[in-house]
Amino acid sequence: MPDIDETHDISRPPWVASALSHPVFPLQNLPFGVFSTAAEDPRGGVAIGDEIFDLKRALEAGLFTGPARDAAAAAAAPTLNAFMALGKAPRAALRKRLFALLAEGDEAAPARALSATLLHRADACTMHVPAAIGSYTDFFAGIHHAYNGGVRNKRNPPLLPNYKYVPVAYHSRASSICPSGTPVRRPNGQRKRVDESAPSFGPSRNLDFELELGVWIGPGNALGEPIPIARAGEHVVGLCMLNDWSARDVQAWEYQPLGPFLSKNFGTTISPWIVTVEALAPFRRAQPPRPEGDPRPLPYLWDEADQAGGAFDIGLEVLIRTTAMRDAGVAAHRLSASNVKHLYWTLAQMVAHHTCGGCNLEPGDIFGSGTLSAPDRSGWGSLSELSEDGTTRIELPSGETRTFLEDGDELILRASAQREGYATIGFGDCAGRIMPALALG
Ligand code: MN
Repeated sequence: MPDIDETHDISRPPWVASALSHPVFPLQNLPFGVFSTAAEDPRGGVAIGDEIFDLKRALEAGLFTGPARDAAAAAAAPTLNAFMALGKAPRAALRKRLFALLAEGDEAAPARALSATLLHRADACTMHVPAAIGSYTDFFAGIHHAYNGGVRNKRNPPLLPNYKYVPVAYHSRASSICPSGTPVRRPNGQRKRVDESAPSFGPSRNLDFELELGVWIGPGNALGEPIPIARAGEHVVGLCMLNDWSARDVQAWEYQPLGPFLSKNFGTTISPWIVTVEALAPFRRAQPPRPEGDPRPLPYLWDEADQAGGAFDIGLEVLIRTTAMRDAGVAAHRLSASNVKHLYWTLAQMVAHHTCGGCNLEPGDIFGSGTLSAPDRSGWGSLSELSEDGTTRIELPSGETRTFLEDGDELILRASAQREGYATIGFGDCAGRIMPALALG
């Protein structure tokens, strides 16, 4: 399998005790992020078990040489754009060096000797959005979510005619992307549901989440120079989870003819760690064959190697915890379980399509995949699907019910990649709690 190397070796234990068999951040994950401590400003770090490895201090201690040093210098910064711009070779060199520094063995000696200064307890740190995000594009590549929406809108057939030809997307808002844990204020807006005759202004009554993958763009392309599909994968650095919070009653009224606007720009939550494509190499899989009768993608979207290994098998779940559940000390309840393999388009197809007319991507840009619903109800990735636009109440173990999110609800997205013979790796939580809308006045 391409890109499998010693950094995926499950038999190598870490010397960082909390990382041993860690279900999210074992030695084989090594995701990059930006953190701060009570005493120190934001800088780059790497999650290892329950701790964060401080790249700035490691760099100052002289633990890197050659291309790994170049990558570490870029990844130690308060934003990771320059690191993302570097591309695969230096990034992979840094990953190999980090693995050697954190695995049991002679090479780890200098890092172990400095462990008291190089490691921070993650729960004592604050995580930040890891890049200055220039642009955020949200795709619509979860075909079951698209299909379910068409069914609820009584379209026949449910999918619009372009869906299987075009990786549909809209340009969304980068400024309101927040790291996990940031409270999400219920938006006020102009609302009108299909059962109402006129719009009104006030707090959204149909506040929803969307279970999405976040795709971090690394090296960009010059304006006017499309990225061919065969090279498109090289422009993806890694993945995170992304919650595209959506005010459905605002969306229903505003979206025609130009698409979502205020219904989705009041906040987007991401998990703060960039899980690299190198870490995810064992979890690649072939893009599932298109169902009989579906059109073959146009040539600019077709690449044999991308079809053979451009998809990912990554389990996803959505959990909710209401204020009553929190007060009672009840664990979060799983609303849904899905998988990244349900994407109709690969990440490379998204990159190739985004740039085919000459649009330039830049390091630190982010894509949302679109809502990643599974085919069946147990894996639907939004409340508009699970509650059928608010017509079916969802029962929670606390005895409460929900159609859409209520104030105080916490919504958590998680991802976990598992494969026999390899360490399970996760992404870390993508969580946000709903705060009441600002009073009108
Ligand atoms: Mn979305």
